[in-house]
Amino acid sequence: MQIRQTNHEFNFGSYPTFGNNIDPKQRAWIEVKGKALETNVRQLRSKLSKNCQFMAVVKADGYGHDAKVVSEFAIKGGASQLGVATLKEGLKLRSSGVKTPILILGNLYTKKDLIISFKNDLMPTISSIRECLICNNIGKHFGLKFSLHLKVDTGMSRLGFEYNKFAQQFEKIKSFENIFIKGLYSHLSSADELNPLDPKSITQLQRQKFQELLKQIIFDKNHNIKIHLANSAGMLLNKDFHFDMVRVGLSMYGYSPLTKSDKNLSLQPALFLKVKVAFIRIIDEGVSVSYGGTFVSSRKTKLAVLSIGYADGVPRSLSGKIKAIHNNKLYPQVGSITMDQMMVDITGSNEIKIGSTMILLGSDGDKTISPLDWARESKTIPWEILCSFKNRLPRVQVD
Ligand SMILES: *Cc1c(COP(=O)(O)O)cnc(C)c1O
Repeated sequence: MQIRQTNHEFNFGSYPTFGNNIDPKQRAWIEVKGKALETNVRQLRSKLSKNCQFMAVVKADGYGHDAKVVSEFAIKGGASQLGVATLKEGLKLRSSGVKTPILILGNLYTKKDLIISFKNDLMPTISSIRECLICNNIGKHFGLKFSLHLKVDTGMSRLGFEYNKFAQQFEKIKSFENIFIKGLYSHLSSADELNPLDPKSITQLQRQKFQELLKQIIFDKNHNIKIHLANSAGMLLNKDFHFDMVRVGLSMYGYSPLTKSDKNLSLQPALFLKVKVAFIRIIDEGVSVSYGGTFVSSRKTKLAVLSIGYADGVPRSLSGKIKAIHNNKLYPQVGSITMDQMMVDITGSNEIKIGSTMILLGSDGDKTISPLDWARESKTIPWEILCSFKNRLPRVQVD
């Protein structure tokens, strides 16, 4: 490394070289419990029939947990396939040595992307004859079969072949000699709704449509097509949604998407969000805190300044609505959450010092704060909370 010498008369000759290895736990960080992921996958798998496969959905960097770590422990727990959203996410896993089958859930529409997908043994999701043809041509060019999954739209209106035309189009697709259909799937739009098992629910309607379609399709005798429909919510509803494989994200990370949760399920959150106290101050009664002065102290108040903010992925809309845990006690966050810092009222505590660690998500003793709580308070869903965490937060695997 080049050290720039200053001409200052008090210069030290060169900067000391010890300062460059910053401790990842020096400011704010995410701890990922690999064992919790593994246990969750094992537990969820125990709800499936023996032949039903488990696809671990690790898109968006493993819902913010680190896709590599999640993949490793999910596979240990029995996941036999991985799902990612983008080509790049798939490539990243391949280059870190993951050999498990990977399905790309997003749409690749250029020949270039499909070639890269093919060369790296990543299966694309195919929603049209046009894409099927491109894949068939790529397979032909390399003298091989291009493995892929076909998707049919049953009510999400996102990706997928048009429902009414699919059975007929499938006949044409079967004639393509250089593709290998590894899967046929659809996606539920509302399985976490209030009464998903009501016979008239969107979820039941989608399942019926999907089953109707399977009856119309003429499969080849020795086909090896995995049929799949369920996300976490669908998987937890009942076995009618399982088919040959389930694609599970949220519940593998430790959170049930269902409003009425299965009492026999004890999922463990795999993510802990921790932060250091960077500064402590005492303010008098009637003093405002943070931007806009939205919080004014009603008594002499001891404040801890935590070094984390919305630039790390803590939504600003949670200002004044969240808590931090220290030694099995909860402390309220006060004032606006700023870009890089936030304040917590620690009045009455003598144990919290500069450099103490506080927990924003996770548990300590009998106190727990979950992304489900944050989602409720900021009027969003836990999925969005989890994948909002930025790269500025180091991920630290603990086990
Ligand atoms: C994200 C995703 C899943 C996983 O959803 P969860 O609700 O997190 O289990 C499954 N299938 C598809 C197509 C997805 O995009």
